Amino acid sequence: MSDSSTFHEQPINTTSLPDISRAQSAALYETALHYFPGGVNSPVRAFKSVFGTPLFIKKGDGCTVWDADGNQFVDFCCSWGPLILGHNNPVVKQHVLQAIDSGMSFGAPTELENDLASLILSNNKKIEKLRFVSSGTEAVMSAIRLARGYTKRDKILKFDGCYHGHVDSLLVKAGSGLVTFGETSSAGVPKGFADETIVIPLNDKEAVKAAFDQFPGQIAAVIIEGIPANNGLLIQTKEYIQFLREVTKTNQSLLIFDEVITGFRLGFEGAAAYYDVNPDIITYGKIIGGGMPVGAYGASAEIMGHVSPEGSVYQAGTLSGNPVAMAAGIGQLSQLLQPGFYKKLNAKAASFVECIQEFANNRGYKFKVFTAGSMFWFAFTDQNIQAAAEIDASSMTYFKVMHRELLNRGVYLGPSGYEIGFISDAHTAADLDKAKKAIFDSLDIVFLKDYA
Ligand SMILES: *Cc1c(COP(=O)(O)O)cnc(C)c1O
Repeated sequence: MSDSSTFHEQPINTTSLPDISRAQSAALYETALHYFPGGVNSPVRAFKSVFGTPLFIKKGDGCTVWDADGNQFVDFCCSWGPLILGHNNPVVKQHVLQAIDSGMSFGAPTELENDLASLILSNNKKIEKLRFVSSGTEAVMSAIRLARGYTKRDKILKFDGCYHGHVDSLLVKAGSGLVTFGETSSAGVPKGFADETIVIPLNDKEAVKAAFDQFPGQIAAVIIEGIPANNGLLIQTKEYIQFLREVTKTNQSLLIFDEVITGFRLGFEGAAAYYDVNPDIITYGKIIGGGMPVGAYGASAEIMGHVSPEGSVYQAGTLSGNPVAMAAGIGQLSQLLQPGFYKKLNAKAASFVECIQEFANNRGYKFKVFTAGSMFWFAFTDQNIQAAAEIDASSMTYFKVMHRELLNRGVYLGPSGYEIGFISDAHTAADLDKAKKAIFDSLDIVFLKDYA
């Protein structure tokens, strides 16, 4: 244990605060249980791995959200990533209101689609053409179909711990052994689909080579998250990512970067620029729609030429390129392109994370903050974690306590210790100071109070 008195005058505080009132949220949840399985429209919202029932959010502004009981929180979930400018951004809002004035959907092309595409393509050297869809899942599903259609191969190689939306063939987890056919991780996924998916551990070159040896000429694509950020933050080395680029090229297989989280987050050109790599297909979602349902997949003009109606890979959408959603994307991405935007955001995030890490180190707590750009992950470990199997599931009991203590102190993290947090442009120094103090107190409680 190091000397705790060395950290800025932060006294040890192990007093749990009383639980905030959550009566209105609890009542809404009771009602929602009649309507939706588990009371929610997406499973991780259900608070299954933390204390209590979901907070029903009434309003957001800047980095603050208010729940149905009127409690106020500094929000680090930010709708799971899309809100890089915070809630209720005035420019995004203005674009949306203006678009709505002219109608909600036409099922015919609009100039707004050109405008958003031009904003993206003229500032992103990694892709030449793209197609807009309505979610990250849809983007990945389409990218996989394109890779299969383009290579005329069926198998997909994915990594244990990477999430790519709820696409059938990717709802597959690792079996036992170095290179395995996946086992479905959801009921309702045919075994035949899982058989086309090979799952291997992250950060393991031998496993990749073994997979290509075992299935020569059969792997259509290797898919990886730009930085795996859905099962902790599993930061891969640049060398490993460049190895994936080489090995896919050698085997005439495509490299798909799923940048649904990292796209427009690590920088405007996402993880592809961060790792200085040129993937064959890139998927986007979350930030691209400014809070509206938008996804996209992009590639070289040559590869995109295989998509219908130019090519034979079919993909369509009634609401694809929806004008209101396009307007929100334009409102958001145009602000991200302002000079120094990412430098400022990333510096702010780095100093927040460093301060928390310094606190934990000074106290001697077994706690590590993994971070890249404005993303962070709190892990109760002293190891450098780069693969899913390295996460100690039992450490999640600490997160559960931390989550409750943070809610009681006005800080909202996504309700699972496997999820990462996001810092937005709207988080001010004062908000981050308030959050730090709450994080320090909750860490003291987690580490010094006996929960046995
Ligand atoms: C969120 C996410 C998806 C799925 O996007 P949805 O919009 O939820 O369908 C896919 N891939 C990654 C990397 C994601 O983070």
